[in-house]
Amino acid sequence: QSGSVQRSNGPPPGRILDAQKSKHRDRATALLKTRQQLPIWPHADEIRQKVRENDVLLLVGETGSGKSTQVPQFLYQEKWCQPSPGTSSTQHASEQGRKGEIGGRIAILQPRRVAAISLATRVAQEVGTPLGASSPASTVGYSVRFDNSVSPATKIKFLTDGMLLQELLRDPWLKEYSCVIVDEVHERGVNVDLVLGFLRRILEAGRGYGKGDGRNGVPLKVVVMSATADMEGIQGFFGSDSDSTSMNGTNTAKQVNGTSGADESEWNGFSDAESSHEDNASSPSQISKPIAVDSCYIKGRQYPVTAHYTPTPVTNILDTAMDRIIQIHQHSPLPGDILVFLSGQEMIENLESLCHTYATSLVEQQKPARQPARTKKEHAPKLPALQILPLFASLPTHLQARIFQPTPHFTRRIILSTNIAETSLTVPGIRHVLDTGKHKSRLFRPGLNLDTLLSTPISQSMAKQRAGRAGREAPGHCYRLYTEKDYWELEKDTEPEILQTDLSFLVLTLKAHGVDDVLGFPLLTRPPRRSLEAALEGLLNLDALDGETGSITEIGRKMASLPVRPDLARILLEGGKFGGYVLDGVVDIVSALSLEEGIFLPIHSNKRLQNGVKKTTQELLLNGKKKQVDVDGSDDEDSNPVEAARRQLLSRHSDHLTLLNAIQAYANPSTHDRRAWCDQHGISHRAMSRIMDVRKQLRQMMASSRFQLASSKDVNTDRDAPMVKGALGDLHRRDTTLRCLISGLWPNIAILTSLAPGQTPQGQGQAGSQPQNPNQRAPYTTLLTNQGIHIHPSSVMFTQRSTPGRRKEDGDNNGNGAASGGRRRQGAAAGTSGMPRAIIFTDLIYTSKPYARNVSAVELSWVAEMGKLS
Ligand code: ADP
Repeated sequence: QSGSVQRSNGPPPGRILDAQKSKHRDRATALLKTRQQLPIWPHADEIRQKVRENDVLLLVGETGSGKSTQVPQFLYQEKWCQPSPGTSSTQHASEQGRKGEIGGRIAILQPRRVAAISLATRVAQEVGTPLGASSPASTVGYSVRFDNSVSPATKIKFLTDGMLLQELLRDPWLKEYSCVIVDEVHERGVNVDLVLGFLRRILEAGRGYGKGDGRNGVPLKVVVMSATADMEGIQGFFGSDSDSTSMNGTNTAKQVNGTSGADESEWNGFSDAESSHEDNASSPSQISKPIAVDSCYIKGRQYPVTAHYTPTPVTNILDTAMDRIIQIHQHSPLPGDILVFLSGQEMIENLESLCHTYATSLVEQQKPARQPARTKKEHAPKLPALQILPLFASLPTHLQARIFQPTPHFTRRIILSTNIAETSLTVPGIRHVLDTGKHKSRLFRPGLNLDTLLSTPISQSMAKQRAGRAGREAPGHCYRLYTEKDYWELEKDTEPEILQTDLSFLVLTLKAHGVDDVLGFPLLTRPPRRSLEAALEGLLNLDALDGETGSITEIGRKMASLPVRPDLARILLEGGKFGGYVLDGVVDIVSALSLEEGIFLPIHSNKRLQNGVKKTTQELLLNGKKKQVDVDGSDDEDSNPVEAARRQLLSRHSDHLTLLNAIQAYANPSTHDRRAWCDQHGISHRAMSRIMDVRKQLRQMMASSRFQLASSKDVNTDRDAPMVKGALGDLHRRDTTLRCLISGLWPNIAILTSLAPGQTPQGQGQAGSQPQNPNQRAPYTTLLTNQGIHIHPSSVMFTQRSTPGRRKEDGDNNGNGAASGGRRRQGAAAGTSGMPRAIIFTDLIYTSKPYARNVSAVELSWVAEMGKLS
């Protein structure tokens, strides 16, 4: 019969399915023993009972005690966790097969996508089910930005807190779920604070007050989990003895009049005391029953960890870390892997290449001698091999998963990680921890309306968490690459992110949820008023809020539904107005900017790898260190083929268009071997594949919102149609793209200092609060805040003139720009004559002075035409 498939003599499909099922079951059975040894296992009944009898359970347990993997498995078969029939109006649209039902699923929120995917993978194995969307019968799935893998049968769903906020937009009552588990709450990211506020409002409604409960009486259980013991604030936030406050100082949980410690003088008058904090569903005037809260403490397994400090402050972290790694490797027997905590991806990649050089030289040194060994010394056991594994949030999942794979025989692993391994991922096998004492944190400076991503000192509690990683399986060592005095001077605890960050996203999210009185929303920690005001102003600038009423506009609503920062979302929408190739380009640029890391690798690291293994370890290491500092690219530039190739991608006055050129060249069908192309151009293949993922999703989202992309037919592929090849050829399209950037990045605009009115001879303006060297005249001045700024050395627009007197290490923490490919040409433009009159930039970062990063030249007339200069 035509259309029928001729079957070979293989086993019938039923048998294949059965075999797969039994494979999953066998794996689960094998894992059961390991699960039973976790510290949380004996608490299973206690946890079940406490969740059954309460609305909220607070669960404290050391990292690795089994909270994230076991708690959902303890709960998902409970009676209260089965779906209840709802009415047709309660139907949620997220998946087919669950029509009209309420509840039935458990959501486990993770601050990071890596952890969400890795935990889902593990729990699927433990339950004995295929993962996510791979099978309609799969009970475990995950949902992270740009990747949703859930089946109709999914009961346990790991998702990032950001994804739950997106779901809350569609389904304010979280009808999909019977339980929400908020994990890693000690990290206190803004998203978690927001989620806790929304959960409290759902629980309050379920407790029988207001205009009714959108869940038709089906209870929602909340489990809040933390690795540190400080749960008092959260207990108060939910509990009946609540001392927590909404942002305007009223206590909604207990309806206590008063401010609960709020500084009234600061808050009065800014909020409407009468207004409800509710959206359209319920408006609590009284609470009939308090929210029931209980807690449970899991005692972890922890062996002693000896802390070591440096006698004096460390000047070169990478050198010191490398020296310590070599010492450990040469003097400590196996087993015992090394976990190094570094501040960010650039540091990780730099240390990674040093480690590779060392590992390769070891292999060389240990190759069997041609002559047979005669002395006992020559028979001495060889050192173990080294396996070097980087670990950071944007690393592709399959590479992250390597930390859970068995270590090869006679091998020591060196794991180079950001603070992701502090509590989010439990890395097995670690006996030595190196703690550089730094992490990347976003700091918002409301006065300057700037959000900066800086490498900052960790807190003592983070240092303890890091050290704890060395004592999971046996006594361990933690080498702190700072002095003991410095340790005691660290902050005791990490501040909640809400006190430090740009709150535009928080305010936009609340407004999109219909919370017009932002100050009335219950939050665990009240954000600084200045940050809130700055966020409101920023959103007004982006046309997301109505200038008269303060409520959300149509543009704002669309921005909130896009999974990128508000400024980038605004750029996308502006691109949508033009459509076609402009929108394609805008999507590409936004995809690249939505990643924290840059795409350009430091060229020296390529050189180092090309240098190969002919030299001794010491020579190679010294060579490596030397290149490390040489971010200037002042050495033999032209002899480097990578720089020559990279130069082809540069757009003379725009980092944004340079990014676009790189992405379009990479995605071009004529680029057959993408990995080789990345090597040729000194570009991170990891970053490019992430960008392709993001771009695909954003293209799909824009296309489904009826925006016309030139690539409309190809939204499901990461290859461009041949006609899009090459750079943005036509000037008009190029300028339009830059104009779109202005709509989102405004007011990050600066003009040549010589043109700025009211400048001091140093060009720093009044707002520049950084101590400045009077000889360092900032070439640009921000238009609104009158702040002197310099062009970051990673920018294609960087010239010696743009930063006179620059110290070499200024570029070190972010020296991965495209600049080295074009500096020579640009460097010729000394003085202000060759420099564009106005620039727009994506971020401002501080090292020794304020640097604009990701910069493009723009015309001031465009800014005026867009009505921004009235
Ligand atoms: P907690 O949430 O308390 O930090 P977890 O439930 O995350 O603890 O981890 C419990 C155990 O499961 C740890 O020993 C960890 O190594 C192991 N584990 C977690 N995720 C994975 C994974 N993806 N692959 C293999 N083992 C894992």
